[in-house]
Amino acid sequence: GAYRLGKLNRAETTCGFCAVGCRFEMWGKDGDSLGVVPIEDPDSAPANNFSTCVKGKFGHEFANSRKRLTRPLVRNDAGEFEPTSWENALDYVADRLSEIQDEHGVDTVGCLASSKGTNEEAYLVQKFARQVLGTKNIDNCARLCHSSTVAALQQTLGYGAMTNRINEDIGHADAYLISGSNTTESHPVLATRIKQNVRDGADLIVFDPRKVGIAEHADQYTRTRPGYDVAWLNGLIRYLIENDLHDTAFIERNTKGFESVKKKVQAFTPERVEELAGVSPDELAAAAETLAAADTVVFGWAMGMTQSSHGTENLIAMADLALTLGQVGKEGAGLSPFRGQNNVQGGGGDMGTLPGSLPGYQDPADDDVGEKFAEAWGERPPEEPGLKVPEMFSEIHEGNLKGMYIVGENPALSEPDVTHAAEALEQIDFLAVQDIFVTETAEYADVILPAATSPEKHGTFTNTERRIQRVRPSSDPPGEARQDWEITQALANRLGYEWDYDHPKEVMAEISSLAPIYGGVTYDRLENGDEHGLQWPCWDETHPGTPYLYDYEEGNFNFDDGLARFVPADGGHPGELPDEAFPYTLTSGRVLYHWHTGQITRRVEGLMSHVGESFVEISPETAAQIGVEDGEYVRVESRRGAIVVKATITDRVGNGTLFIPMHFAAGAVNKLTQENFDPQTGIPEYKVSSVRVEPLGPE
Ligand code: SF4
Repeated sequence: GAYRLGKLNRAETTCGFCAVGCRFEMWGKDGDSLGVVPIEDPDSAPANNFSTCVKGKFGHEFANSRKRLTRPLVRNDAGEFEPTSWENALDYVADRLSEIQDEHGVDTVGCLASSKGTNEEAYLVQKFARQVLGTKNIDNCARLCHSSTVAALQQTLGYGAMTNRINEDIGHADAYLISGSNTTESHPVLATRIKQNVRDGADLIVFDPRKVGIAEHADQYTRTRPGYDVAWLNGLIRYLIENDLHDTAFIERNTKGFESVKKKVQAFTPERVEELAGVSPDELAAAAETLAAADTVVFGWAMGMTQSSHGTENLIAMADLALTLGQVGKEGAGLSPFRGQNNVQGGGGDMGTLPGSLPGYQDPADDDVGEKFAEAWGERPPEEPGLKVPEMFSEIHEGNLKGMYIVGENPALSEPDVTHAAEALEQIDFLAVQDIFVTETAEYADVILPAATSPEKHGTFTNTERRIQRVRPSSDPPGEARQDWEITQALANRLGYEWDYDHPKEVMAEISSLAPIYGGVTYDRLENGDEHGLQWPCWDETHPGTPYLYDYEEGNFNFDDGLARFVPADGGHPGELPDEAFPYTLTSGRVLYHWHTGQITRRVEGLMSHVGESFVEISPETAAQIGVEDGEYVRVESRRGAIVVKATITDRVGNGTLFIPMHFAAGAVNKLTQENFDPQTGIPEYKVSSVRVEPLGPE
């Protein structure tokens, strides 16, 4: 029906899908999100100006789904969910968590915060874990995506974040090296910036096992063997040094440890790189020459680099390469992790939803930091690092973790070897899930708390370029669903605390008082039309924010001596190699129309009509070997499990490599992936698993 204009709500807000952080105006009425239009002033949308992608434009319809949770649910004696009052649901969660802690100890419970919710919500979940429950076990799904990026960049540059900006820098580099990022499908608006610039003459080099969409625009596409990225990165560094193409002045002025890397890369001869990574000496030389000739280079990557049993080393090698070329701390250049979820930078990292990292990446073992938090919270947060997400699941199996409060995460589908994760969720004594739908994880819950989604809330998201931007509501949560921060606050208060936040801006005031990198962030400034969000570090109310971390001339790397660190990386082999029984290498990733475990996008008809079910990409030669035709179903099996999916025959993948998207519950790729982890960060090796394939014939 027609709505009277007077009843419509419109709000300038930030996209709730990916971490490009596009801004637009969202229109809504009562409980419904109606549409998205560009913001009139493009300066207010620094990452995207007028552009949006199909998810940003149409994806919001999920918020109107009739399957949204509208009332709290508890599992009854018959094992079925039944609606209950908020009072009952909250009392039940509080009682069960305290009972478990009283009986078995404070660290037998754990919390997962959300990278999709706002900064303020994520901050409160880690505060709930550390202050109210007193547990050290707090983590979030950033563990599964860019934890290795954060660890690598912290070790080499100081801050675990993108060094530069999207529009002004990624959009204007002279050359790009992109690896392990399906940019056109995962970060569409960012990919558009790159494609425009490549059309205007910039050089694009893509190293990837899969000829992803962005590779179609590349000047050089090099197919790599999954799992051997350190080899070709070290090979590039070796070539640059051998041919005197490194930036000696920058290295001498602003770094230390170069000799150790120079020594390490000696072993990565062109022949060895070819043998390990499948990159020919000519391809290696061509890439090195292009990168060395460019005035400015942007290095972009995503899960293809991070989700590896040596993910941290992959990104250390990437940082070593950028330092070798002196491509950090100047306009048009930098190390640019393309972060996935809308707020994985903020809610998944900056807010301290990580074991052993307080808001603003502060060390809980540091006495000054501990005392500052003790003063604000009344007690010092646990000093020791707690369990990481995959460790939480093993500890449930061991009987050591007995209760969980999971906010907006879906580990039942996102963990590697999901059968193992599902067994853990089955076994756990008590599980409370706060979400907007009955997710695969919520199906194992004892209590489900109905929450709100981004078109329904006030708060902030921090995008992949460290820019903190406002999120504003244009519609209301359905039924009795509540804001996430209100739910966490109500739980804290039931457990004897007196939280009394009236609005997320009060939570931000607390964040900025405790996390120095957010020190100057206030809602007043975020709402001031001239500032267009603030990029951290933003030390105080007069600080303008930081477009570039570091400085090509001065260094200013985030260490006491201001010098960046070269760190030698080796890599080794992936955790599972193909053999006679499981002869193919499986990798996983995204498609344009869907997002993560598909909780949201699988509920949008317009997106499902494009890609409505899972599939496996197989090269023509491998398909002939297996005996499968395009469109037929196959059974794909690993040592962990088996799934049935439709075959797509394409040369996007190389011979012997298969690809399955990660968004579907039927044909869930994580039934096949393995629990093999990067020792530094615990990120699982989603990108390399050995499988076999059995054709099932025509439908
Ligand atoms: Fe949203 Fe990302 Fe698409 Fe922009 S590119 S509209 S942030 S999903």
